[in-house]
Amino acid sequence: MNDQEEYIEYIKGRKSSFKRNFYKESLKEIESLKEKFPDRKPRILLHACCVVCACWPMDFLADAFDITLIYNNPNIWPKEEYDHRLSELKRYLHERWNDQIGLIVTEYNGQEYMDSLAFGKDDPEGWKRCFFCYEKRMDEAFRYADENGFDYFTTVMTFSRQKDSQKLNEIGLKLQQKYQNTKYFVSDFKKADGQRRSNEICDAYNLYKQNYCGCIFSFR
Ligand code: SF4
Repeated sequence: MNDQEEYIEYIKGRKSSFKRNFYKESLKEIESLKEKFPDRKPRILLHACCVVCACWPMDFLADAFDITLIYNNPNIWPKEEYDHRLSELKRYLHERWNDQIGLIVTEYNGQEYMDSLAFGKDDPEGWKRCFFCYEKRMDEAFRYADENGFDYFTTVMTFSRQKDSQKLNEIGLKLQQKYQNTKYFVSDFKKADGQRRSNEICDAYNLYKQNYCGCIFSFR
């Protein structure tokens, strides 16, 4: 099977109804927390790519978890855009959360990162270049969670309708094998009207909504 045929099969699979319901699974996991952590809220490290995708997942998780965000996004090009998305995230954390939610910002190595994506420069968005990109950023963030005593790790990327939640959760569960101290929290943040809730928050705080995913290839 060549790459194009493989892609077509993948897209057909995305439309199939045989999928795990990660949203229901996430609710079940939340239900189990009181028993697992009777004396405290578990700590979760939440990978956030931008405030648009992060604002609703933060509301979704805040009652059950002690949240810290990690902004690990060298995929965002150019640097001015990376800085702007970060400053909007910080503004929101200040205005909505009184800076009560921690934020870890990792190193920006945009050029090196774009070079690593170049193998898939002609891929449609949501194909192998993106799978590589999801996994690389999630892997680094998961490692941070594992090394710094977080009980859970997850990513807000399942919020995006352009991103395949099945694939993202598959990656998270695979990485779980590497990072034994921290549990991967499965999610599908776009469910339960996530898009509408995010829109409402973005409008209320006048948040910046970018019109491309991040890398130079998606920008073009
Ligand atoms: S389109 Fe988005 S997810 Fe895909 S490679 Fe570019 S930045 Fe990464």
